[in-house]
Amino acid sequence: MRQILHVDMDTFFVAVEQRLDPSLLGKPVIVGGHPEGRGVVAACSYEARAFGVHSAMPLAQALRLCPRAVFLRGAYDNYLRASLEVFRILKQFTPLVEPTSLDEAYLDVSACLRLHGHAMAIAETIHERIAGRLALPASVGLATSKIVAKVASRRAKPNGILRVLPGAEAAFLAPLSLRELPGIGPSTAERLQSLGLRAIGELAHLPPAMLETVFGKTGRLLTQRARGIDASPVVTGSVVKSVGHETTFETDTADRGELEAVLAHLTEKATRRLRRLPMQARTVTLKLRYADFTTVSRSRTLRAATDLDTEVYRTAGRLLRSLLTRRVRVRLLGVSLSNLCEGERQLDLFGEGRCAKYRGFYRAVDTLRDRFGFDVVTVGRAALLQPAARRGERHLNPFRPALDQEERKKGEGTPEEGGPSFQDAA
Ligand SMILES: [Mg+2]
Repeated sequence: MRQILHVDMDTFFVAVEQRLDPSLLGKPVIVGGHPEGRGVVAACSYEARAFGVHSAMPLAQALRLCPRAVFLRGAYDNYLRASLEVFRILKQFTPLVEPTSLDEAYLDVSACLRLHGHAMAIAETIHERIAGRLALPASVGLATSKIVAKVASRRAKPNGILRVLPGAEAAFLAPLSLRELPGIGPSTAERLQSLGLRAIGELAHLPPAMLETVFGKTGRLLTQRARGIDASPVVTGSVVKSVGHETTFETDTADRGELEAVLAHLTEKATRRLRRLPMQARTVTLKLRYADFTTVSRSRTLRAATDLDTEVYRTAGRLLRSLLTRRVRVRLLGVSLSNLCEGERQLDLFGEGRCAKYRGFYRAVDTLRDRFGFDVVTVGRAALLQPAARRGERHLNPFRPALDQEERKKGEGTPEEGGPSFQDAA
């Protein structure tokens, strides 16, 4: 019998903001950007939800519903760091941790009961550590499968723990509405409702063959899930897949010097974020979009992971030269770093002297920038950069899907972000 935990942070982005600024506690807080902007709500506090605000709602609509709300732009890197703190706690109990977003994970604790005691004791300890050490609220569901654990954590919100006893899965799910079953989206729910179904229990009682005629193979799966049957394993992985920066030029350019300077600047931004996490990357990907919207990208994997500007730039510069094959101006340039591992650079036996020198240098630069802002120093080629060239710049993890849709209409495509979804649903 498996013991699966689903840990889900409560209003994660908001909670991180409240930890930084306790005056926000108890207030309607909305993370996503300026309410006059075109963005959507990335996360909101329970106080804001009381006014009908929810994730993915346009900010302008949120402002109409809750004019007194505090609107915050959100600082993705703060959430990322807090997320890594949470995952460090989770991994103290089992290596079998499956992140599904920055603030959500499944843990299979079946094999570590002897070490840590009853699964419920593990759930309680995790809950206490996240609250005590990180001052962040979380909810935990405990069950024999991922699907039931997930529903349980949702029912435990806010800041609670809920255990579904083995054998009670179907009974636990039965009275809940169809939409509470993971995997049932609005359109599936609508089709099920048109069959006269309202609760998960009604779905569970249907003969699988009947649903199969309507939904095909997913029909059989649906009835199984409605009964709480889900054998899917907990699959380990990393929550952060990549960090990157890209910029759209104010004026399209074919000037190699300018392109290289922008690339150096983007590299600096990306590696600085790596160092702050702290993480290291092995793969460098360069993306380039020509003025006619043709987009090309190319990756190269380094022999060893790095977080140093010089090493990333050397590779990114080569990639740029190999991609610049057309006599067309460039509209967008982006660099992203993936294949990440946690921690600072390992001692490099060969050439450590050089690395140590650079490491000290970038540490000094990072400190200056932390105190006085990014632009207080410019390093190397980035010094050649004209301020105008940087206006279109952005992180590769936007809180503004609405803006992306606008850009897609213009043919811009969304940034290739391998990371998790940035809607903080609950
Ligand atoms: Mg959550």
